Amino acid sequence: MPRNMLVSLGGNAILKYTEEGTAQEQFENVETTSRHIVELIEEGYHVAITHGNGPQVGDILLVYELARKTLPPMPLDVCGAQSQGMIGYMLQLSLKNMLKAAGMARPVVTLLTQTLVHQDDPEFKMPTKPVGPFYTAMEASKLHEKRGWTVVNDSGRGYRRVVPSPLPVGFVEEKSIKTLFLEGTIVIASGGGGIPVIINEEGMLQGVEAVIDKDHAAAYLASLIEAEILLILTDVEKAALNYGKPGQRDIDHITVSEAEHYLQEGHFPPGNMGPKVESALTFLEKGGEKVIITSLEHAVDALKGNAGTTITKA
Ligand code: ADP
Ligand code: MG
Repeated sequence: MPRNMLVSLGGNAILKYTEEGTAQEQFENVETTSRHIVELIEEGYHVAITHGNGPQVGDILLVYELARKTLPPMPLDVCGAQSQGMIGYMLQLSLKNMLKAAGMARPVVTLLTQTLVHQDDPEFKMPTKPVGPFYTAMEASKLHEKRGWTVVNDSGRGYRRVVPSPLPVGFVEEKSIKTLFLEGTIVIASGGGGIPVIINEEGMLQGVEAVIDKDHAAAYLASLIEAEILLILTDVEKAALNYGKPGQRDIDHITVSEAEHYLQEGHFPPGNMGPKVESALTFLEKGGEKVIITSLEHAVDALKGNAGTTITKA
């Protein structure tokens, strides 16, 4: 029996920040990523996949911004849906090709995912997540007046819109995701954390202008599909203590209680390593066996215990 695993792809599995972002570059990256994922399948894992969408949704927002005299801009939930479709397509195509090259045939599907959030999540009152292009102070105050946006000075680099980043509490499509996965389909779901939706006063689904952290959504997804392992692929081989400071020490293995301790000490900042370790804790608490944080290149070795950072209950 193959072992069930969720593979969570970081931003650079699709588009590196140093790249321009052409379709060709993104396809090439996704092909390399797919080749590594096929290696995991060859090792005996049944995988579901999730991914980030920061650079792609940023580009989509910029396009609408530049074209606003000709085209009405779409709200953030719709932009998130666009990015899920685009990245899902690239992964579906590349994975199918790489599976074929390895002599395997597996169904692969992207499931456009709506992620449920609570309307009373504190983030709706105090948004924290910067999205889209930078603006001048003048543009910022106009955007606040005209569109009601919260626009803040982003570490002195200019003004940026900030939106809520509420915690995921479920997926509208969770039954379909689970059914497809458990009957053998490679499911790509909750891309970019999924499209944030609330259940409104009338009991109806409604998209909201927010973004969901893909790492938090990954923890939920991994538990949903009964994964044994959550494999978080990012751009560092290991999580570290004192990262980027004198005395940096890479972590091979930590337990839940050690991870909690280091999280409290501030070793894993919000916005990058923090949500990965938090999602590891959530997944392990809900019955997951093991979380690995590593890079794409080290994934196979890390699963054998020879690379990456492993987090387990004890
Ligand atoms: P992803 O797209 O994979 O979510 P992020 O940039 O959000 O990537 O998170 C990975 C980054 O987290 C690394 O490139 C590194 O700069 C940063 N980071 C912060 N703290 C740590 C830490 N303690 N150990 C390793 N990396 C860390
Ligand atoms: Mg990230």
